[in-house]
Amino acid sequence: MKPQHIEKTGIVNGINFDGRFKVKRWPAVAVVALGYFAEYPEQEGEDFDPEPELVADESRIVVVMVGDDKRHVVDASDLIELAEDAYCPSCGQVGCGHGR
Ligand SMILES: [Zn+2]
Repeated sequence: MKPQHIEKTGIVNGINFDGRFKVKRWPAVAVVALGYFAEYPEQEGEDFDPEPELVADESRIVVVMVGDDKRHVVDASDLIELAEDAYCPSCGQVGCGHGR
């Protein structure tokens, strides 16, 4: 199952959701931040809600690599914002020489 997320745009808590990032463990790939990782609350007992709302975990961010659509969940603290020209817009690699 795809990780759920609550979509964010603009700068939220110091993270620019319109920007591009690299992730500490994938230093050569640019990623796009979609929003906060979110889960449905665990439910038990009488208070069962048939339509539970997603609850965001603001310490975790759902990202996709540039040019890909597979979602990954990473720690917010592992994201490093990239300058506009620091990654390749065609293949998403950091430091690629495509089209230069
Ligand atoms: Zn490239």
